[in-house]
Amino acid sequence: MKVLKFGGTSVGTPERMQHVARLISREAGTKIVVLSAVSGTTNTLVRISEHLRAGEEQKAAIAIDDLYGQYKEFVRNLLTQAEERKQAEEVLEEHFNFLKNLRKVGFTTLEEKEVLAQGELLSTRLFHLYLQEQQINAVFLPALDFMVIDDHKEPVLDKIQEGLREQLSSFKDKKVFITQGFICRNHLGHVDNLRRGGSDYSASLIGGVLHAEEVQIWTDISGMHNNDPRIVKNTHPIARLSFDEAAELAYFGAKILHPSSILPAQKYNVPVRLLNTMEPEAEGTLIGTETESSGVRAIAAKDGITAIKIKSGRMLMAYGFLRNVFEVFERYRTPIDMITTSEVAVSLTIDDNSHLGQIVSDLSELGQVEVDKNQAIICLVGYQLAEQRGIVTRALESLHHVPLRMISYGGSKHNVSILIDAQFKNEALNSLHDNLFGDQQ
Ligand code: ASP
Ligand code: MG
Repeated sequence: MKVLKFGGTSVGTPERMQHVARLISREAGTKIVVLSAVSGTTNTLVRISEHLRAGEEQKAAIAIDDLYGQYKEFVRNLLTQAEERKQAEEVLEEHFNFLKNLRKVGFTTLEEKEVLAQGELLSTRLFHLYLQEQQINAVFLPALDFMVIDDHKEPVLDKIQEGLREQLSSFKDKKVFITQGFICRNHLGHVDNLRRGGSDYSASLIGGVLHAEEVQIWTDISGMHNNDPRIVKNTHPIARLSFDEAAELAYFGAKILHPSSILPAQKYNVPVRLLNTMEPEAEGTLIGTETESSGVRAIAAKDGITAIKIKSGRMLMAYGFLRNVFEVFERYRTPIDMITTSEVAVSLTIDDNSHLGQIVSDLSELGQVEVDKNQAIICLVGYQLAEQRGIVTRALESLHHVPLRMISYGGSKHNVSILIDAQFKNEALNSLHDNLFGDQQ
């Protein structure tokens, strides 16, 4: 059995959705198709909830009507048969009535989560109707019946496995299943989600717990590139990556994959293949246990980083200082990405500034605090990178003209991270590319 996940742009127009139906038909055997919302929809739903939360009823109503109009048009172009069109119009009516009738007063996160879920609910129901029109027999598996997270927002693997197995057992002779990415239920049984971009995570969770043969993530780019193709020329897709390398890259900016999505597949050792819907014959990237070569495999960058330095004489020869620092971040549930220390100071980075003010104020009790916003982490990823001589020297040499704020080496064997001011990011990516991959072009 395979899990095939199609992202927002892959189902972004009626033609593309039809194309997805053809792609899944090429794949023999049992498949579970996981869909994102039609591209742009989740963003619009976020806007609608913001209006509702702010009590801007008129603005919410306009945005809902506008989206409704787009979906009516979508359905007209997707389906040709009167029966399926009628059913699709009823589906739209149901979901848009839900949006229109939402409580205008006391709109909370609870309602917001339900609003955000509409995108995946719509895309999967419309796709199911298209398959029905094409006489492709497909079973609808509602994600809200099996995808669950606990009170720390972590997926509950055994419940997901049990729920899925139970549902699948009623359809032993069926080959095509359709389900939603992104959406789930939380520990209270309320509708929730796996955070933005979470459909990849859904696919990996499903593939993992079912011990699938493979998880395919279909997007609009041919695999993970060895550098950011929007910034650097002559990048190319990497044919094979190890789970560890892919996880580092996904986290550090290779936008193709949701950062958590490698973990479940890795846990159950299910290979993940990244493929391009617009270019289905391209080889893409295969992520698995092995890797094919050594050296730097890829370079990635992550923007929007804030560096915080805490300097204190009290740190000198003292124990417990770092614990106090970390506790501040824990208090505000803010993950730390990079960290470097000296005897009298510690520098670390975060990518979520929502509690920056409080964090800085609490840290000030421990020492002198300096904050640098607009930083970028440049990350070099490769198999046992840190054990190979000369690579880091070469990388640092190619950045000789860029001020380096932090260097993190040795945290993982597969990664070296360098923090620089974001204004130097493009320059750094290009010069690293020329120096490290120049002879491969
Ligand atoms: N529709 C959700 C989002 O836009 C989930 C996803 O596409 O992966 O974030
Ligand atoms: Mg995505």
